Amino acid sequence: MLHTSIEEIAKYNGKEVKLQGWLYNLRSSGKIHFLQVRDGSGFIQGVMVKNDVGEELFNKVKEMSQESSVTVEGIVKEDHRAPSGYELSITNVELVHKADEYPISKKEHGTDFLMDHRHLWLRSPRQVAIMKIRDTLVKATRDFFHKDGFTLVDAPILTPSSCEGTTTLFETDYFDTKAYLSQSGQLYMEAAALALGKVYCFGPTFRAEKSKTRRHLIEFWMIEPEMAYVEFEENLQIQENYLTYIVEEVLEHNKKELEVLDRDLTKLESIKAPFPRITYDKAIELLQEKGEDIKWGDDFGAPHETIIAEQFQKPVFVTHYPTKIKSFYMKPDPQRPEVVLAADLLAPEGYGEIIGGSERISSLDLLMERVEQENLPLDAYQWYIDLRKYGSVPHSGFGLGLERTVAWVCGLDHIRETIPFPRMLNRMYP
Ligand code: ATP
Ligand code: MG
Ligand code: MG
Ligand code: MG
Repeated sequence: MLHTSIEEIAKYNGKEVKLQGWLYNLRSSGKIHFLQVRDGSGFIQGVMVKNDVGEELFNKVKEMSQESSVTVEGIVKEDHRAPSGYELSITNVELVHKADEYPISKKEHGTDFLMDHRHLWLRSPRQVAIMKIRDTLVKATRDFFHKDGFTLVDAPILTPSSCEGTTTLFETDYFDTKAYLSQSGQLYMEAAALALGKVYCFGPTFRAEKSKTRRHLIEFWMIEPEMAYVEFEENLQIQENYLTYIVEEVLEHNKKELEVLDRDLTKLESIKAPFPRITYDKAIELLQEKGEDIKWGDDFGAPHETIIAEQFQKPVFVTHYPTKIKSFYMKPDPQRPEVVLAADLLAPEGYGEIIGGSERISSLDLLMERVEQENLPLDAYQWYIDLRKYGSVPHSGFGLGLERTVAWVCGLDHIRETIPFPRMLNRMYP
């Protein structure tokens, strides 16, 4: 008999196959069992008729509990009403392991309960769909950058200093000194860009975010490209093309998953480069017109970002932020040094900032000035300063948060569902 997966089932129409998986759901009438089986690659409905399989097997299946592991044999039948397009006419079922009473049922569970059972919750069609889309976004990311001549370079996780401010640092002992979990691989990518031209890192980053929001995790994955000889404008174009590409890939490969998530496809189909832009100055004016209590020089909160993004159908770049609210490595606009050549990309539908990017400072003098203004420890940053001494070039880069992007593409209310085992302010279990 042919051993296959549900994902591949279309190839076996009319044939008898064997599937290995779990019993997701069992409904029975007196003479027929409807078994919903999942195997990780998909879900399929199997129909077992008492008169066909005999009383003994039929009664054995009746005892099988939800999430029991099972081997199922049956004939594949095309069925347009079935979600997968196919049904299985079951000839045999073998129990591999009988599951205890399964704690997650079809009824509504509270968030804490689901999070406590995250190791089981992951099996649901909705969570499986999210993980599949996350996987597509990762693969599409790698494909996009490799097609465009980038090299993947890994950044260290243990670092001697902070990249994105000291308030969200995780500190740990490093023999007789201190180390910090990486908040961003960017500074290392700048070094790598001077070695390899176009590079990116993609790894976990850590921030001790002390406020509870729907868009901040403590541990999240960031994609950080860095490019030598690329200036502000070209950096934005690469971001637009990148985001357009990964959304297209999800639309192409995850139709089924987007349907499980009930995602409004028109919201994604319109995501095509170029994206609109608004300067920070104009964004402040807009917020003031809308009655927000904000003045030039303030950073945006989540509600501000939502109001700005609502004005547009696509992601929007907010450009030229005040220098004093952005990181020390961002290049001040030579025409107007009180703002930097930086842009945040805000996702539509209230998902907030998904990318932060900028041209970096390439002048040694200017960098030293900024390092002093920010009181950064010189010894920890000496290697970074060195980069401006040996063949410095204009260069730019950005960081895209994978989980924010998953939340937006999937249309989720909260970032906790975007990563298999989320780390949050009040949660590190399981
Ligand atoms: P925010 O303003 O939302 O706190 P940030 O400006 O601190 O974000 P950056 O340092 O610019 O974030 O990091 C780049 C990207 O990483 C962000 O645009 C976002 O997509 C993602 N990101 C940042 N912090 C988090 C977090 N705590 N959880 C998940 N993603 C994050
Ligand atoms: Mg932040
Ligand atoms: Mg920000
Ligand atoms: Mg940012």
